[in-house]
Amino acid sequence: MDWKHITHVVSAAASFLAMVTAPLSAQALPNNAQVPVLYYHSHQTGGAGIPCTYANTAAIALEQDLQTIRAAGFTVVPLYWVAEWARGLRDGSTLPNKVVAISFDDGADYDWVDWAHPNCGTLKSFRRVLQEFKANTPGLPWYSPHASSFVIASPVARSVMSYATGLPMGDWWWAEAQNSGIMEVYNHSTDHDNSHIQGSYWDYALSTYIPVMGAPGRDNFYRMTSDAQAFTEVASAAAYIQGKIGVWPDLFAYPNGLGAPGSFIHNWMLGHVGQHQTLAAFCANNAYVSRNSPPYCMPRFGHPSAWPNIWSLQTILLGSGQ
Ligand SMILES: [Zn+2]
Repeated sequence: MDWKHITHVVSAAASFLAMVTAPLSAQALPNNAQVPVLYYHSHQTGGAGIPCTYANTAAIALEQDLQTIRAAGFTVVPLYWVAEWARGLRDGSTLPNKVVAISFDDGADYDWVDWAHPNCGTLKSFRRVLQEFKANTPGLPWYSPHASSFVIASPVARSVMSYATGLPMGDWWWAEAQNSGIMEVYNHSTDHDNSHIQGSYWDYALSTYIPVMGAPGRDNFYRMTSDAQAFTEVASAAAYIQGKIGVWPDLFAYPNGLGAPGSFIHNWMLGHVGQHQTLAAFCANNAYVSRNSPPYCMPRFGHPSAWPNIWSLQTILLGSGQ
């Protein structure tokens, strides 16, 4: 299922339902609202000798957070819809009155498959957490819950990172996720400028050396200096991901959230829309998305730094004013 191709159908259906079931104002997200966009890393866990808890293990947090979000009256909607709404391309009347979006970064396989973790025991994949919540929660809209997984494109970068960290980072599951109706796959750059990549390696699939900005990787998108580097990190990555999932991944999340207005990469995103064909890009600065957000640096809240417990998540939800 390709959400982008059915959005017009969804809009019409949602508008019609809103008309026949309740006054429109009771259903709609106000266009001046603030929306929390949350992000998690499935590889975030407790370590040796450290108990795995909500505060240090993403799979545990996500499972509880879906309950907290529901109890607060919020609906998890596809991130793409929030991006469309924030850019003024989707009216709030096509969305529930209280919404939140969920995203995952880096694309470890544990977004999609359970993890026999040496310290935590079996950790549910993000997929399982979403699917179990869906199965066990009556009354959810057909599109909820839903999450967007931002993956690292370069197979060479992923294999070097896997070797260094022990985390599996395949691309075999991307199409399955994209077609699942519960998760979509988007773009988290070619190589993340990841600091585990110490040497320089040729990536045949993307026709580039990685790290694109020179070895060793620094986890620092702000060291980008050329249009060619930006094109490779964003557009070449998108083309590779498209080859796996069948559609162009038109949302981008900056590695480490480093895409602030004024930076080289941000200016490139603003000036080269025809090349990257991306609707919105996400930073990581623990703030709400609104129609005033920079389209190429929409904020997100990160677990666990922004909410190490359910009370701080409740504060984020209520603080949105929705
Ligand atoms: Zn990342």
